[in-house]
Amino acid sequence: MISRRGLIFINQKSTHLVALSFIFLLAVVFTPAVSAAYGEDSEKILDNPWDHSPITVYINEKDLPPHYSPTYYEQIEKALEYWEEGGNGNLDYMPVFEIVDSEEADITIRWVENLENVEGVPSGVAGYARPRISGDHFVKVDIVLEVGNYQGKAWRQYGDATMLSISKHELGHALGLGHSDNPRDIMYPKHEMRDNINPILWSKYGDLIRAAGILALAVLLLLGISWQNSRRKRKKLEDKYFK
Ligand SMILES: [Zn+2]
Repeated sequence: MISRRGLIFINQKSTHLVALSFIFLLAVVFTPAVSAAYGEDSEKILDNPWDHSPITVYINEKDLPPHYSPTYYEQIEKALEYWEEGGNGNLDYMPVFEIVDSEEADITIRWVENLENVEGVPSGVAGYARPRISGDHFVKVDIVLEVGNYQGKAWRQYGDATMLSISKHELGHALGLGHSDNPRDIMYPKHEMRDNINPILWSKYGDLIRAAGILALAVLLLLGISWQNSRRKRKKLEDKYFK
């Protein structure tokens, strides 16, 4: 009886170990990302990400999705003006933009029909800004905006007002701003522009998160195998002694 209890104890212990290491790994994997996204000092990704002025912008009007509206272009212009005039007040510098006809521009903007379908991003994401960072500067930022999404099964095209706020929000990222906790701030991740899994954090921590994920799986697999082994051993002992 004593040995039986002992074996059960080991079995429980290894189950706890699996659970504990899983929780620990989750904590390790997500703590830096969460604190960087919502911490008070995280308003900025970079203080002054562009080392030159004006910041050139290319608006892709060649590869347009079927539901593109010609009025969207104007919303980009308005969003650029918004930031040139101070935006939400959180920039330490006054950006000056120049729209150019070259994909080599600092910021490129293009539309797709639906981000979930075209880019494979999580549901609910209306736009994203993907920066290429070198040191403490942006080298280039690619902004992708969708023109509508599915509400249930029905396709709903974004109106100009929605396009304007998505554009302002993504341009805010392109100017170095992170997310705001204030629901009235343009940098608050609203439902229709819920771009968390934050592409910027993803580009910073993505490799780390993936590596930790693989490590976690490997550890769980090993623990699982050893648990299976101990269970098999116990079964053998039980068959031998407790029948
Ligand atoms: Zn965002």
